[in-house]
Amino acid sequence: MTADEAAATAVNQAKDDLMERIVNLCKRRGFIFPSAEIYGGFRSTYDYGPLGVLMLRNVKDAWWRTIVQERDEVVGIDAAILSSPRIWEASGHLDTFTDPLVDCRNCHERWREDQIAGRCPACGSADLTEARPFNLLFQTHAGPLEDEGAVAYLRPETAQGMFVNFQNVLQVTRKRPPFGIAQVGKSFRNEITPGNFVFRTREFEQMELEYFVPPAEADRWFAYWSEQRLEWYKALGIPASKLRMRVHEEEELSHYSAGTVDVEFAFPWGWGELEGIANRTDYDLKAHARASGVRLEYYDPESEERFVPYVIEPAAGATRSMMAFLLAAYGEDEVGGETRTVLRLHPRLAPYTVAVLPLSKKEPLLSYAREVLAELQPCFMCDFDVTQSIGRRYRRQDEIGTPWCITVDFESIEDHAVTIRDRDTTGQERVPVEDLVAELSRRLRS
Ligand code: ATP
Repeated sequence: MTADEAAATAVNQAKDDLMERIVNLCKRRGFIFPSAEIYGGFRSTYDYGPLGVLMLRNVKDAWWRTIVQERDEVVGIDAAILSSPRIWEASGHLDTFTDPLVDCRNCHERWREDQIAGRCPACGSADLTEARPFNLLFQTHAGPLEDEGAVAYLRPETAQGMFVNFQNVLQVTRKRPPFGIAQVGKSFRNEITPGNFVFRTREFEQMELEYFVPPAEADRWFAYWSEQRLEWYKALGIPASKLRMRVHEEEELSHYSAGTVDVEFAFPWGWGELEGIANRTDYDLKAHARASGVRLEYYDPESEERFVPYVIEPAAGATRSMMAFLLAAYGEDEVGGETRTVLRLHPRLAPYTVAVLPLSKKEPLLSYAREVLAELQPCFMCDFDVTQSIGRRYRRQDEIGTPWCITVDFESIEDHAVTIRDRDTTGQERVPVEDLVAELSRRLRS
């Protein structure tokens, strides 16, 4: 082995290690479990445990805050997962939502052609069939009859819920372009090869914004949202060096898109998409107007003009970005001569914002610590831990990313003050209990 090869092997080893460490941590601490584990698991599906459900919710809340709460021209909806198949006929998904499927003639595994380099990843054979389109829609039947008329599909994206509700939303909100409709929820795709932990699963969560604009302004808004979305990941703690924007080539574009750029993250195995920002033009509204016979357009009462808005769509994965946030946050360092594992998650994303740790289990300390906890619980997601040494308890919180530990000691009962210990600096500061909520809120905002 040459020195270069040895170095490359070491780098690959470190990357495999990182993935393995994250997967282990997720399982051990209750972020993500393989689904149906007692039955041997089920085809790359996962369940989110006590910490995972908190973190995933925080990812979605952070998105909702930026996209809906902090903007007055964007509103949210929550559309049905099971709906009329006519939606998928009109949107083009029934015909064109396909990936190229190839079979290995040697070992009979099936692969997505664009993900393998002409060889079967399982056995190495180059004897592959011609690629044929494989539709990713999950089909089911609505109602007790399994006949043709009962066929329905699980939605493969949340976007269509916004298009078919365009007229409803316009009427009730009286918005005018540019305005947006946002949605967070589950989507389903019968992926040929799910994998890389929760990067690609058949059931996953999306966070999508459909931003309706006057056609002449589409390019400007496309550039605007591309930049905004990149900044969102940075603001939540992913270093710029682990992010990049990748513009889609002409032949790569989806059937509806006049331009797409992906926000990509440096996953341990290489660059992978976190989010796609697409100029969907007026494709979807026109397609649904044609198929339904309902006008889907904006009428401007001032200019007395009608037009079909263009749509700029930032479409992100909640489960996939949660994984990126975990990977970017993972670290090991030395504190007091001991190695610690630390998740340097943005405080808004950490499962627990605060952990309340009484120095001892003895009374009246325990009761006082519970009072402090009760003070914080209405404002923050809190953990409460009384077992083992305080050092051990700090380590446990570091490992799950809790940004602040509140230590309640015997003096606290006298001076009504506690210590805030910072995850990243391990620095400690004494704060009056009555200022605690304000101080933690301030830290959370800054
Ligand atoms: P890919 O090329 O990776 O299959 P895509 O370009 O088809 O993804 P979009 O349709 O743009 O993905 O979906 C928007 C986002 O939804 C993606 O950027 C990703 O974060 C998320 N997503 C899509 N498919 C999956 C999946 N199978 N598992 C987890 N997240 C997914």
